[in-house]
Amino acid sequence: MDGRTLDVGAVAGVSHIRNPILAARKVMENSPHVLFIGAGAEAFAAEQGLERVAADYFSTPERWEQLQRALSSQQMVLDHDGAAQSHSDDPLDPDRKFGTVGAVALDLQGNLAAATSTGGMTNKQVGRVGDSPLVGAGCYANNATVAVSCTGTGEVFIRTLAAYDVSAQMEYGGRSLQQATANVIHDKVQELEGSGGLIAIDSHGNVVLPFNSEGMYRGFAYVGGEVEVAIYRDS
Ligand code: ASP
Repeated sequence: MDGRTLDVGAVAGVSHIRNPILAARKVMENSPHVLFIGAGAEAFAAEQGLERVAADYFSTPERWEQLQRALSSQQMVLDHDGAAQSHSDDPLDPDRKFGTVGAVALDLQGNLAAATSTGGMTNKQVGRVGDSPLVGAGCYANNATVAVSCTGTGEVFIRTLAAYDVSAQMEYGGRSLQQATANVIHDKVQELEGSGGLIAIDSHGNVVLPFNSEGMYRGFAYVGGEVEVAIYRDS
């Protein structure tokens, strides 16, 4: 999503587009529509010249094992929770993190942008769409306020319109980035028993990365500054 124009593009339910985030950008730039799903999304991406791969391109032994564990416990699991991980002692084994990727950015001209890409929750039902491709739920950017990318229990981020709620609280409620994101993650998402977090940057360049899950792989940097990375709550 481009915060300058509120232009946005998304795809969902795809299994052959090598880089779905590039397809989302093509939707934003080259289509009058906002969201394509399934076969239509695959066809649009192919017309736009994006690389197509066999579905097993995305298959890895780690993901297969993770799915088997989720199937046997009859759970739908998140990468940010220990339940999703291996039998390793580390509940969030960094070698086994392959989940949602989000990015938010502010440029020198004050333009904000956000992007979110995911394989979704492990052991979800076929046809289920999460928050990531839904504008205002898992992703939002508006130059007037903030750029946000979410990760976590998609259904709860959809029900709370989490990403847009951060922007709305700042715009209509005069809340700071810190207050708005803390309310969304630690009050609203938490109250509906959602797990996860978000990354956000406001129009002044303030960055926050709140989460209520066991951990969230995250990092940020300012031009010319140190790169900060962390996984757990206290790191
Ligand atoms: N939010 C994603 C979904 O619900 C999952 C995730 O972020 O790990 O599909």
